[in-house]
Amino acid sequence: MSRPARGLELFVSEELIVGIDLGTTNSLVAVCDAHGPRILGAGGAMVPSVVRYPAAAGEALVVGEAAKRDATLFPVRTVSSVKRLMGRSATDAAGDAAYLSYEVVAGERGAARVRIPAGEGVPERVLSPEEVSAAVLRELKSRAEAALGRAVSKAVITVPAYFDDAQRQATRVAGRLAGLEVVRLVPEPTAAALAYGIGLPRAGAKPASVMVYDLGGGTFDVSVLRLTPGEGDEPFFFQALAVGGDSHLGGDDFDHALTGVMKREVLALLGLAPDSTLDPATTKALVEFAERVKIRLSDAANASVRIDLGERVYERVFTREEFEALVSPMVERTILAAQRTLEQAREALAGEEISAVVLVGGSTRVPLVRRRVREAFGMEPYTALNPDEVVALGASVQASLLGGARSGALLLDVLPLSLGVETQGGAVAKLIMRNSTVPARAREMFSTSVDGQTSIRLSVYQGEREMAADCRKLGEFHVSGLPPMPAGVPQLEVVFAVDANGVLNVSATERRSGRRAGLQVIPTHGLSQSEVERIERESLLHAREDMTRHRVVDLIVNGKLDLKWIGERLAKHRAELDAAYVGELESRVASLREMIDSAERDWRSVDPSKMHQAKEALDRASMRLQEVAITQSLREQPRKL
Ligand code: ADP
Ligand code: MG
Repeated sequence: MSRPARGLELFVSEELIVGIDLGTTNSLVAVCDAHGPRILGAGGAMVPSVVRYPAAAGEALVVGEAAKRDATLFPVRTVSSVKRLMGRSATDAAGDAAYLSYEVVAGERGAARVRIPAGEGVPERVLSPEEVSAAVLRELKSRAEAALGRAVSKAVITVPAYFDDAQRQATRVAGRLAGLEVVRLVPEPTAAALAYGIGLPRAGAKPASVMVYDLGGGTFDVSVLRLTPGEGDEPFFFQALAVGGDSHLGGDDFDHALTGVMKREVLALLGLAPDSTLDPATTKALVEFAERVKIRLSDAANASVRIDLGERVYERVFTREEFEALVSPMVERTILAAQRTLEQAREALAGEEISAVVLVGGSTRVPLVRRRVREAFGMEPYTALNPDEVVALGASVQASLLGGARSGALLLDVLPLSLGVETQGGAVAKLIMRNSTVPARAREMFSTSVDGQTSIRLSVYQGEREMAADCRKLGEFHVSGLPPMPAGVPQLEVVFAVDANGVLNVSATERRSGRRAGLQVIPTHGLSQSEVERIERESLLHAREDMTRHRVVDLIVNGKLDLKWIGERLAKHRAELDAAYVGELESRVASLREMIDSAERDWRSVDPSKMHQAKEALDRASMRLQEVAITQSLREQPRKL
């Protein structure tokens, strides 16, 4: 039989422990099972870390999206970014408190507390940051329970790498208040690396050093870590070689930069002085629109806003270039901080290079951020997992290991399934074969089969069957902006590279135009050992039939290209050829065309060997036509001076 795909099934543990990313802006809960880690909760599983306390007796506590949405309506009862206060004294947190809409006071022994004023029939409340965080955790816990259909009482929670003992302790307390036993606290960058399988024990695993670049809503954290696979009870060890960042820089600042532009223009539109203040409702609308514009510009080249201001309507189209120019200084600050942190880690790295840069945090979806990180560190950063989910996913991997899942590994030292791209006609051209050891790399040239294509779609597949429909699709992307060229002329260089961590980077470059696009995926993600075995079984079962079909499909595509150019040249040069030759050519064309037509209706209806022979015979017969065409075209060439 085949070599076992090591480790995939090993994440099934007896104990249910969830992984939680308790973020400054957003929080998430995940679980890891036989299919690997996954986020729990229905659509929009992210829970904004925002809690609103009742303004009147009988009102309920509001947590998450709804609390965030109405935050500006209830500034003093809506608590956000409470993570900044965890385990800190009011004095230490004073700098942060200045940015918060609610009141921060000193409690017992000077500890930071949140004061919520009295409302109708509700007394004033002084809350610890732990209590507020517990409200967010309780929401996550109940979402996890709803998704899993069973009680959840244990969790691994992530904390920033720089959290001190008091901050960690506060996080533990928050968990306990939410009815969760905190099995372990894991640094966020470690969790992110784990989500990619870095540092997990596996055959031949070596220590790996990585940089984790985390740009969230209000914070930027960068760390250089070394992960060493362990044994027995401790599946791995991690060491932070250097940490850095900026505790007040993040996606919110991008929003503010955009809001600034919008505000200036709105004031001008309303005929108000540039230093006038807008009413809170308008300001709130601007901030909300700004975030939406920013998010839209991560995928699109431009984004439009339309805000009804009553007397006037503010309409505006923002381009990605304009947005990038606006946020570029902030992005450069993060790059500088990351370079400084890497510099600090130099000594500990002792000449070793970092093997990966992992992107974390919603703000790393901004294309400029990805581009600058790629340029500054000379490698394709890891983005295959959603950057806003990767910490929670990693926490769940750690949770499953602590819950008794013994590894093996999430990762493999060999690829369990072949990797390739779909070609014209629906077959799969395999670039990297099953059981290749990682790292693995392959390169192949492709072209188009239709004239004037300005965009080429690349669909990436994994599996052993010959037809794309029978394989597992990993993703697709487009190389676009090509100048129109005849079929077969574009030269598309496709490179597949799987690195030591099992991350696949696919890139495609059209060589004549230089246009390039790419895709990053983790082929083993969401794949269990039993699925790999099923895929192998099915490929053996269908091997013969599949091969025939692949052959027929390729013959159809290539045969059609032959028919096309022979038809064109024959039309042009018929007069220069003798009738007997033209007759022979035409009969060979007709017989191949007939086979192609039949094969297109049902691939089983033709004998691929006969079809191959017909194509070869036509190719041979067309040589004279080709010679005539070339001679003619040489004659038509302008004379060179
Ligand atoms: P935190 O770790 O601080 O809790 P997140 O990692 O969830 O925060 O990041 C939240 C930030 O990511 C917000 O500023 C949000 O606007 C931003 N963000 C989310 N999605 C996108 C996107 N597609 N493009 C740009 N920014 C985004
Ligand atoms: Mg985060």
